[in-house]
Amino acid sequence: MDQGLPYWERFLRELPTVADLAQAEPEVVKGLWSGLGYYRRADLLHRAARFVDQNGWPTGYREWLKVPGVGPYTAGALASILDGEAIPALDGNAYRVYSRWSNWMEPLNTAASKAFITEFAGGLMPTDRPGDFNQAVMDFAQSVCIPRKPRCSECPLAELCAARAAGSAADLPIKRRSARVLEEHWYFAIGYEDGRFGLVKRPEHGIWSGLYAPILLVEPLHDRTAEVVEHRLSHRKLTLYIYRVPKGFAAFSHWLSVDEWSARGMPQAFVHWMRKFAYI
Ligand code: SF4
Repeated sequence: MDQGLPYWERFLRELPTVADLAQAEPEVVKGLWSGLGYYRRADLLHRAARFVDQNGWPTGYREWLKVPGVGPYTAGALASILDGEAIPALDGNAYRVYSRWSNWMEPLNTAASKAFITEFAGGLMPTDRPGDFNQAVMDFAQSVCIPRKPRCSECPLAELCAARAAGSAADLPIKRRSARVLEEHWYFAIGYEDGRFGLVKRPEHGIWSGLYAPILLVEPLHDRTAEVVEHRLSHRKLTLYIYRVPKGFAAFSHWLSVDEWSARGMPQAFVHWMRKFAYI
C-alpha cells in the first residue's frame, strides 16, 4: 500500500476519469505506471478504459468478463461488489479458504478442482450483500485462515470446517505441481554518452511491449565484457548479458536521459541492472 499509493494518487491526478484514461497516449499511461513493473497491466487498464468509454459500464459477471484484462476473479469481485450478483471472487486466498472449508484434497491447478471450488463457494454465497461476503473472505484469508499455521483455535468457522474436523487444515491447499522453469540467456547492447542511454522502443507485442530497452543482439559480443543480471519471469529465468557500447555501434533509435526513459517506461529487468551497476 505504501509503495503503491503515490502512484495511485499521481495517476488519478493526471487522468481523473475513464474518458481521460481512454483518450491518453499509451506513452503517458506507461510513464505514469513507470516503476511499478508488470507493464502489461498498464496496457490492459488502458484497453479496459477504452472499452468502457465506448461500450458503457458493464453490468453483471458475464459482461465484466468482456472487459480487457478482467478474468474470472476480477469479474466475480466487481459483479458481487458493484452489481450485487451472488457470485464468488476466487483468487488464490479464497481458493485456500474454500479448499480447507471443504477439505478438498486434490491439487488446485486442475479443471476439476476449479469446478469443484467454484460450485462449493457458489453454494455458500448469500444473495444479500454478496460483495461484502467476498470481501469478508478476503480479509478472513489474510487474518485467520492464513497460508501457514491457520488460526483454527480462534476461527469463527471452526465448527463448519471439514479440514479442521479431518485434521488436515495445515496440509491444505494441495500445492499445484510446479511448472518447469526455463532458463534463457539473452544478449543486449546499450549505448551511453553524455548522460544519455542509447535504447530502442520494443515492438508493441511480446515481452516488454512498447517500453524502452537496450537493443537485443542475436549473439554475444566476444570482444567485450558483459555486465550480467538475472531476472525472473513467472516460468522463465532470464540471464541478461548487457554490453555497453559507443554511439554508432548499433542502431539505437532513442538517446534518452534517466528522466526521459523513466517517464516513458523501461522494463524492470533493466532498471535493476542500472541500479546494480550504479548507472542510476
Ligand atoms: S478452522 Fe482453520 S482451516 Fe478451517 S477455515 Fe478456520 S482457520 Fe481455516
